[in-house]
Amino acid sequence: MSELHLIVQKYGGTSVGTTERIKAVAQRIKGYVESGYSLVVVVSAMGKTTDELLTLASQITSKPDSRELDMLLATGEQVSIALLAMALHEIGIDAISYTASQIRLLTDGNFTRARIASVGTERILDSIKKNRVVIVAGFQGIDADDNITTLGRGGSDTSAVALAAALGARDCEIYTDVEGVFTADPRLIPETKKLSEISYDEMLELARLGAAVLHSRSVEFAKKYGVHAVLFGKLHGT
Ligand code: ADP
Ligand code: ASP
Ligand code: MG
Repeated sequence: MSELHLIVQKYGGTSVGTTERIKAVAQRIKGYVESGYSLVVVVSAMGKTTDELLTLASQITSKPDSRELDMLLATGEQVSIALLAMALHEIGIDAISYTASQIRLLTDGNFTRARIASVGTERILDSIKKNRVVIVAGFQGIDADDNITTLGRGGSDTSAVALAAALGARDCEIYTDVEGVFTADPRLIPETKKLSEISYDEMLELARLGAAVLHSRSVEFAKKYGVHAVLFGKLHGT
């Protein structure tokens, strides 16, 4: 397999917010597969799922145990990976979904804000060799004791960039609900301009200032490993 033909794509919560959108994502993936690319696809939880899970926890306790919170929050991404795999099967594309535990994406033990320590590639590469689209649950990891951890809100971006780095993929495509990185949050500031390119350091600054468009750790990873992240806006038909 040539590294040049491997792309990591990440679809955020809006892009997989409904089953119709998941089908649109599957069609887009099909186009890449038919053009000869190998794909590793990272997905977030559908729409506002993570917020809804947090609400559920808050209805039980004001001080949820952080291990149990991660156990709960990680379920959101597990729903999307399975549905996307099914949507791909439905249109004749071979695909397999994996949780972080199944690919051995190891983190430290800081529940709710864990840092990635290493990313297992064996199972992914094995599936790619079998011409399968690999779908990985974003936002989650496991610690040294196999407890489920999460990477902090917005952490699927970091899962995607870390996978791109580990697999030696130069390109990581991030699909989200805005057309790119703007000088300020386009939802709040109407006259903001879209940037055609942004350096790692400028993006890091924006992310650290709280621009949710990319998780700041994803930018740190991208800079460290030279991963080229490209942002894409709304998919047609969604
Ligand atoms: P996803 O679920 O796809 O990860 P997020 O909600 O995490 O999407 O991130 C996208 C959001 O980031 C946009 O809807 C936008 O409101 C916000 N945002 C904040 N700052 C910026 C910026 N400078 N450029 C683009 N989007 C921004
Ligand atoms: N689902 C998680 C969140 O809402 C992770 C992500 O979307 O990147 O924060
Ligand atoms: Mg996000």
